[in-house]
Amino acid sequence: MNPISKPDFTPVPELRKMQLEKLQKLIPYEYEHVALFRRRCDEKGVKPRDLVTLADLAKFPFMKKTDLRDEYPLGLTAAPMRDIVRFHCSSGTTGKPICIPSTQGDLDIWSEGAARCLAMYGITQDDVVQVSYGYGLFTGGLGAHYGAERLGCAVLPTGAGNTEKQIMLMQDLGVTVICCTPSYFLHLATVAEKMGVDFRRDTKLKHGVFGAEPWTDEIRTRIEQISGITAHDIYGLTEIAGPGVAGNCPYCHGLHIWEDHFYPEIIDPDTLEVLPDGEQGELVFTTLDRFGTPMIRYRTRDISRLQTGECPCGRTMRVMDRIHARSDDMLIIHGVNVFPSQIEACLMKVPEAAPHYQILLSSTDTMDLFEIQVEITAEAFSDDMRALEGLRRRVLDAVKSVVGLSPKITLVAPGSLPRSEGKIKRVIDNRRK
Ligand code: ADP
Ligand code: ZN
Repeated sequence: MNPISKPDFTPVPELRKMQLEKLQKLIPYEYEHVALFRRRCDEKGVKPRDLVTLADLAKFPFMKKTDLRDEYPLGLTAAPMRDIVRFHCSSGTTGKPICIPSTQGDLDIWSEGAARCLAMYGITQDDVVQVSYGYGLFTGGLGAHYGAERLGCAVLPTGAGNTEKQIMLMQDLGVTVICCTPSYFLHLATVAEKMGVDFRRDTKLKHGVFGAEPWTDEIRTRIEQISGITAHDIYGLTEIAGPGVAGNCPYCHGLHIWEDHFYPEIIDPDTLEVLPDGEQGELVFTTLDRFGTPMIRYRTRDISRLQTGECPCGRTMRVMDRIHARSDDMLIIHGVNVFPSQIEACLMKVPEAAPHYQILLSSTDTMDLFEIQVEITAEAFSDDMRALEGLRRRVLDAVKSVVGLSPKITLVAPGSLPRSEGKIKRVIDNRRK
């Protein structure tokens, strides 16, 4: 076992004790240094000394993304500026971004989390790791970079974009691991095909470390089939650290959370009650030992479940379900709740549908219009209108059988939908609000 993985196997009683001890240090620290937290605790009539068992955490207030926006840039920062060594900001599609200042200790925990994920995937210091996540304010690039370096891998920091050069470097330097968004990997694969590069034949690529956006099991299978690599899932968010909060082991259908640093809860998003392990709800994290911008009971909006039972790998850290949906990406179309991931799973059941699609929503005076544009594979692309109509009907039936709605299905030529270097935008919602 790589020594970096040792904490993954901490006996559960020891782990719970450690979590409680860390919380009993963190909560008074936050109460002392962050006015918003102190005010909310006072309003609820709860004091740091009320944290006697782990279950008592439920007495404390939640934090939300809007708090980070309202307190932008530094209102939730607990450490003095002399201890801060890095800022990250999350995209924030509208208005102000959110800003997370970190101390060196915070960054060390994050790198360790990312390194533990890579080690769990079977990556070692013999590997050459290409980081094609974006570098900069976004946490993807630097998170994967420091994780891989911590493990002792050779890192190739290409960042996102300049795809043909990336493929050349991948071949020339014998890259064995690629880290990027799953949607960018699909784009890389298309460009490689155009260049006549076959991942199996012409590269040493073995592992893909994919995250930053939801991706279905069906896309995962597609990726593995077209490239011959093993596709691993890595999860994280800027507010809690970045990629490396959780990752999948070879045995579990989910992701082990590094809960010696990131304490998980699942809540009912309506009642805000904590749900028992095994039930699905909104994922909430407390950063147990990050002191730059601690997050206490941070509501991620990601929908998941903490699995019960032991994982055959022997890791004691709890496993969460893969994230297929965020509570805020649920679409309501003609009164029906639809998640983009459901549509993706339907499309991927049709072999001639390429893994590139876009959901378009608009409205007329009287109704919502729901269209899905689906790229088809080069093999299926032809002038045979009857064959195309048959394919269109099969795509429609696949969507209708699961979603219960009949969107307009438009088949489009290979390569015609926009590609992304980072997180892909699958839904264009132009409906009147
Ligand atoms: P933003 O909230 O602006 O997208 P982040 O870059 O911090 O900023 O993104 C974190 C979010 O990305 C997570 O809350 C989650 O919704 C999504 N995400 C990250 N990793 C994964 C993953 N492996 N699977 C599914 N979704 C993921
Ligand atoms: Zn496991």
